[in-house]
Amino acid sequence: MNLRGAKILLVDDNVDLAENLAEILSDEGASVQRAGTAAQALELAGPHTHVALVDIGLPDATGLSLVSTLRARSGGRIAVLLITGNASTEHAIRAVREGAYDYILKPFDPEIMLAAVARAFSQVRLEQEADTLASALRASEQGLRDLVDAVTALLLVLDDRGVVLRANKAVLATTGLTGDELEGKPWLEHLPESERPAVRAIVDRLLAEGGTAAHEGRLLRPQPDGPAVERWVTWQWTAVKVGAETRLYASGMDSTEVRELSRRARLSEKLAAVGTLAAGLAHEIRNPLNAASLQLQLLERRIKRVSEDPKLFEPVAVVMEEIGRLAHLVEDFLAFARPSELRAKPVDVAVVVRELVALELPATRAAGVVLAVEAPTEPIPIAADREKLQQVLLNLLRNAVEAVGPGGHVTLRARAVDDGARIQVVDDGPGIAEADLPRVFEPFFSTKADGTGLGMAICHSVVDLHGGTISIHPAPARGTVVEVTLPRDPPRLSTPPLAPRA
Ligand code: ADP
Ligand code: MG
Repeated sequence: MNLRGAKILLVDDNVDLAENLAEILSDEGASVQRAGTAAQALELAGPHTHVALVDIGLPDATGLSLVSTLRARSGGRIAVLLITGNASTEHAIRAVREGAYDYILKPFDPEIMLAAVARAFSQVRLEQEADTLASALRASEQGLRDLVDAVTALLLVLDDRGVVLRANKAVLATTGLTGDELEGKPWLEHLPESERPAVRAIVDRLLAEGGTAAHEGRLLRPQPDGPAVERWVTWQWTAVKVGAETRLYASGMDSTEVRELSRRARLSEKLAAVGTLAAGLAHEIRNPLNAASLQLQLLERRIKRVSEDPKLFEPVAVVMEEIGRLAHLVEDFLAFARPSELRAKPVDVAVVVRELVALELPATRAAGVVLAVEAPTEPIPIAADREKLQQVLLNLLRNAVEAVGPGGHVTLRARAVDDGARIQVVDDGPGIAEADLPRVFEPFFSTKADGTGLGMAICHSVVDLHGGTISIHPAPARGTVVEVTLPRDPPRLSTPPLAPRA
């Protein structure tokens, strides 16, 4: 019988018997503490006591009443063995009901006592080991949870029906859902309608065949005031067999910014390529156009000398007008294709905006459009190329006015933001069709019969040159908001302009 390491509390007022027992137990390697009363026993018992050997008849209490208090003191882990001279089943039942581990009848054979103590000791040790393991497991589980929540990646675990078993904090933050709303429901239900078929196909395939898959999709986080926030996420999926079940693990990286950057890079590239190619051509057209215009004026004068017949002038006027349009197109195009260096100077955006509106007011009023300006009285100072900035705002204003038509409203708004200026051109026109949105900044994209399709392309390249951003959003009720942000200081151009100077 090995009691090495056992901490035993012996509670007996019979000094001779207690000494005897203590000696027997110590011989087996146990360390023994002795108490003569219940009060002493409670003082000595601690969380490390394994077994308490308690005589049922104590001077200050019954051993029976000590059972539950002792166990409470040790966190429920102490095994109490009662020593009783009174062999009745009633006693035994009560003892066990109070939480005693066992009882020993007096008089007893030391071997039987030792066997009972050894059983109790190994039981307590097992329980303690289980406790230690459980708390180590809890700690490591918590550690893993913390890790899973600390990473910026979105992490998802789905079961073999596609139901969310676990989603980390990044998923909660991106979807705006709580853990309870996410977990226990199919992941598909949390996706925008249009995303579901692609994800369903991936989930079905992985569950059937295993393996991995990659895909990029959108998540929406509804906002109480305004449209949902859309994030693009690049997902990596892996099917993992856990016993008989298959689990799907998905990790996602937010790719919204990367997408936007590459979209802008592609567009800039396209604009630059078109610009390089055609700027030369436009330049070549300008000279003969000037010559044609001059010759036409000459022709007009000569006709005047021989006849006053308006019928003779009509074709000349038409050709003149067409040449005018062509010249306008060429000028527009050159403006777009010539992203020359900025001549950036201190500019007050509030003043630029107010001046522009004052300038355009008569024309817009004539067109039946209500033009308004919202700009603070205090300055919005930035460094910018004033002429180019005016050109941008004029293009946007004209688009807005053309879009709303008579009876429409156009508002030019400017305000200072943290690191620069934000300008919005708001109209209540028909808006831009979703299919057209990606093309609006492309050169020559126009939905107008007589449009050049260069206005927005010019805006884009000028704003780009200033290190700003330009974006289009649907207006809250109807119409369009074009938003331009400009940094307080434009970046210095480190590379020469791609398009040749005309
Ligand atoms: P253009 O004005 O010559 O057509 P732009 O580059 O200025 O060329 O504009 C391109 C197209 O973008 C327009 O033809 C129009 O379809 C669309 N657009 C631009 N601004 C607006 C707006 N405020 N409302 C509706 N559509 C717009
Ligand atoms: Mg335009």
